[in-house]
Amino acid sequence: MERVDAGVREQLLKDDQQIVGKAFDIAGNNARVIQANTRHMALLLMNPAIPDRASRMAAFAEELIDANITQHIKEPVACARGCSHCCTTYVSTTLPEVFCLAQAVRGKKEKHARVIVAAARSKSMPQLEREVNRVICPILDNHACTEYLHRPVVCRAVLSTSLPSCERIFLGGISEPFAAPPSLGGLRSYVVIMMRAALQVAGLAYRNYELTHALEIALASEDSEQRWLAGEPIFDAVAIDRLDQGETPLTKIVDGLANAIRPTI
Ligand code: SF4
Repeated sequence: MERVDAGVREQLLKDDQQIVGKAFDIAGNNARVIQANTRHMALLLMNPAIPDRASRMAAFAEELIDANITQHIKEPVACARGCSHCCTTYVSTTLPEVFCLAQAVRGKKEKHARVIVAAARSKSMPQLEREVNRVICPILDNHACTEYLHRPVVCRAVLSTSLPSCERIFLGGISEPFAAPPSLGGLRSYVVIMMRAALQVAGLAYRNYELTHALEIALASEDSEQRWLAGEPIFDAVAIDRLDQGETPLTKIVDGLANAIRPTI
């Protein structure tokens, strides 16, 4: 791989500063901004001077999806504080997002104990069974997310336009398409693709894992994030999301983006 000229890289980074972390055009030609955000996350992940760089990268991605949801989702949504149907389902997330949440939970004994109990339940259940036997997210309390600012990307990007539909799906166990604003799926895919490509460029695991078991492991030691960044296989016992094994519809796009970014790092 040939790196682009140092002067060109310097100019790229300067130009990136104007667009990273902001809402972007989700319908038009946005290759430049996608690359800028991905490069930003990859450089963050590759900076050894920042011990919690994985958490920080996740926090960046979480703010990026929030900025874009605010900008692009104009339909009225049914989601409101006190409604928590979707917090009883399987939560699929990257490991940096797990560390970001773990940072917020660390030291909160009751919540940590709930994570251990929920992880034991989810570990003993095949993923498909989770769609029938609900495991309530241990971060949920009184029907509200207690770490709202640190919740994973997927939690931010589940917005429903129909409460009756959510009730049929989550309470009635009826299989029907989730009623979401039309542009939400594409928006979430953009952010997921950028995160994955950045993780790939940094040589880190980029697939999705089950939240509670991964969170239990992240909380088990103070330096779990640093150990993972150093290559210790501390999450080997956590199952990868069944929808994220082998080639997925995103694989080629993520590979292409990572290949475009590498020479500019
Ligand atoms: S992290 Fe928060 S939003 Fe996500 S499932 Fe748990 S309680 Fe719900």
